Amino acid sequence: MKYNVNEKGYYGDFGGAYIPEMLYPNVEELRQNYLKVMAEASFQEEFQELLKEYVGRPTPLYFAKRLSAKYNTKIYLKREDLCHTGAHKVNNTIGQILMAKRLDKNRIIAETGAGQHGVATATVCALMGLECIVYMGEIDIKRQAPNVARMKMLGATVVPATSGSKTLKDATNEAIRDWINNPTNTHYIIGSVVGPHPYPDMVARFQSVISQEIKNQLQKKENREAPDYVIACVGGGSNAAGAYYHYLDTPEVGIIAVEAAGKGVQTGESAATSALGKTGIIHGSKTLLMQTPDGQITEPYSISAGLDYPGVGPMHAHLYASGRGEFISVTDEDAMQAGLELCKLEGIIPAIETSHALAIFKTRTFKPDAIVVVNLSGRGDKDLNTYIDYFKL
Ligand SMILES: *Cc1c(COP(=O)(O)O)cnc(C)c1O
Repeated sequence: MKYNVNEKGYYGDFGGAYIPEMLYPNVEELRQNYLKVMAEASFQEEFQELLKEYVGRPTPLYFAKRLSAKYNTKIYLKREDLCHTGAHKVNNTIGQILMAKRLDKNRIIAETGAGQHGVATATVCALMGLECIVYMGEIDIKRQAPNVARMKMLGATVVPATSGSKTLKDATNEAIRDWINNPTNTHYIIGSVVGPHPYPDMVARFQSVISQEIKNQLQKKENREAPDYVIACVGGGSNAAGAYYHYLDTPEVGIIAVEAAGKGVQTGESAATSALGKTGIIHGSKTLLMQTPDGQITEPYSISAGLDYPGVGPMHAHLYASGRGEFISVTDEDAMQAGLELCKLEGIIPAIETSHALAIFKTRTFKPDAIVVVNLSGRGDKDLNTYIDYFKL
């Protein structure tokens, strides 16, 4: 079984490029060039240099002593929370802004829900001096005022999406419309391993620096490259894809994906795509998708904005369908408690997305000598108000 993408852009039965004809030239230009550009020595040099000097990589692989003692196993945390801007997302936006420059694009567009990807995109546009337009649902603009302010400070134009439910899906539609109208000078930076081929593969490759570093760091700390388990939360799936990437074909490494159960998988307020989803098409790719019997996309729910997405990337759909990955889902309540526990035991305030991955230790036991790596996708600063409301702090 092959777990990575094939030449046609499929992971098993999932992936592909289901796009309107008007978008074909844009996506095709990217498809024809992305591997060639990424293989150029000058591209790699600039990418690696920025990851080191600007993002602050390599991020530590930290042995969490007190958390390990509590759960009687060896837990390492991959500290993506220490990246510039506070999460893994910037690994991808750095990669894509360099790609855009190589393809002679001087205008960048992006969609954002909670605003995290918008901020990561606005950041790299400021860094490179490129025009940046971020589409965001009108409702999300109201809900996520601090991130809207950040994007504006970074020089981006935030355009409200006023159609439909005025949230992420509608912002994505606006971004696609913009790209159709600006096919020559504009690059669309997608924020996760979703969208039409080649986006899922390109984003996974940019994020794969995470598992490359884990291999090197574990070799030094444990004298082996492979842990027994790699665990990550999955919204669209980019931090997870990066953490799994170099272990996909190493069957000894257990891959565990944690989704948001929201208020409970069967409550109608959930984002547990693998449990609830059926094959469908979203944002140009065939994947698992939460939908009604007649194929309308279901509105997802999670306390965590980054996991509040009705699909997963096609790599994850394949990991689930093939059985290579173990998928579990965690409720708001269990995630919030696990986040608070990390604060108390290790002095690290995690993003609520990440707290979902940490909740694994309540439901699943690991052997005392097992090496378990959790990808700590982001820091909790952005979630402080949610923590305050939830715990009445
Ligand atoms: C956006 C985000 C996620 C979810 O996105 P993926 O593409 O699934 O990684 C997870 N954690 C943090 C901290 C995020 O900001």
